[in-house]
Amino acid sequence: MSKAILVLNAGSSSIKFTVFNYHDGELHVCYNGQIEGIGTRPHFKVKDGDERVVYETGWENPLLGKGHAYALEQLATWLDPHLPEAGLIGVGHRVVHGGPKYSAPIVIDGTVLHDLESFVSLAPLHQPANLAGIDATMDFLPGIPNVACFDTAFHRSHSLVADRYGLPTEFYTEGVRRYGFHGLSYEYIARALKRIDPSIAQGKVVVAHLGNGSSMCALSGGRSVDSTMGFTALDGLPMGTRCGQIDPGVLLYLMREKRMGAEQIEGLLYKRSGLLGISGISMDMRNLESSLDPRAAEAIDYYVFRIVRETGALAAAMGGLDGLVFTAGIGENSSLIRELICRGSAWLGLAFDPEANAGHGPRISTPGSKVAAWVIPTDEERMIALHTLSALREV
Ligand code: AMP
Repeated sequence: MSKAILVLNAGSSSIKFTVFNYHDGELHVCYNGQIEGIGTRPHFKVKDGDERVVYETGWENPLLGKGHAYALEQLATWLDPHLPEAGLIGVGHRVVHGGPKYSAPIVIDGTVLHDLESFVSLAPLHQPANLAGIDATMDFLPGIPNVACFDTAFHRSHSLVADRYGLPTEFYTEGVRRYGFHGLSYEYIARALKRIDPSIAQGKVVVAHLGNGSSMCALSGGRSVDSTMGFTALDGLPMGTRCGQIDPGVLLYLMREKRMGAEQIEGLLYKRSGLLGISGISMDMRNLESSLDPRAAEAIDYYVFRIVRETGALAAAMGGLDGLVFTAGIGENSSLIRELICRGSAWLGLAFDPEANAGHGPRISTPGSKVAAWVIPTDEERMIALHTLSALREV
């Protein structure tokens, strides 16, 4: 018998969703879509399982599309006649923060909801949007169970030294820890790697999730042992608009000398830094790669430098390196960035195959390379659907 799962990823300015049908032990995409530009100029687009656009609309007047509640209402109205007759058995939600408590997906009840609200202070820009998505589905799909799937959960396997900061222990106890993010993506890659390259999957692997948000994860035997992101999704690599690793002394300087308050600093670090801040041109890697402006090259150089540096650091955290995997928008599509990173990692024993890389691999290292390099597309929505099925004991 077939069953349907709705996956919802409610972010700060966009809501993404996928409807899966589950039959014969396989998940099939029925629809996937998104409402982007919430609060500015919302645009709603839905594709079917064959990637054909089946619905598209926008709202010219930004006031009309204000806020998540309105966007979620539009989504519910569209979904109502489109959910498969087979019957919806659950909704899987991407939730950015599971705090120190949640190391696995969980069916949401009153206690869980209360816990998730208490983690808002840990992810003030993202957690409220996730909670709004949960609230909305409880309203428009009453009686259907909701499952929270956390971006932090996969990293709860970190050792104490990887999990803490050099602050007095009371801060660690109250939750100031190196949580790490993009966990659903890394978990999907760890599973895919078992199928694609089983011997490497058992070894020491660095996964580079390179998209608008970028981070890297050290996987040892398929378990996360370290990550470049920390307490928030600001740390580690530079990203589209986020700064990545920064000396905390810079923040003290901004406060003292520039008289900047928390909100101004937050805006600078989250929205005006990274590739956009360095280039002054764009947060989008495609624009930077096609630009002749030397500032675009500078932003690319910085991005690559930090990734190569972190590859070495994560290899050190594991005591060696057997594989390097590229995923997400830049990792899956930019042969230039992959080439620069692989060449910078030659000292680790990675012998790069330029032809394979130009064709997007999937294997982009030579057959004799000590370190295997792969391009593997990520699928966080599928990971959430799988988690939802198992949390509901449907598989
Ligand atoms: P994501 O957040 O995973 O959707 O990734 C978005 C990033 O991927 C943006 O910086 C895009 O410019 C980048 N990207 C997508 N396609 C390409 C491509 N063909 N070449 C270079 N960068 C790309």
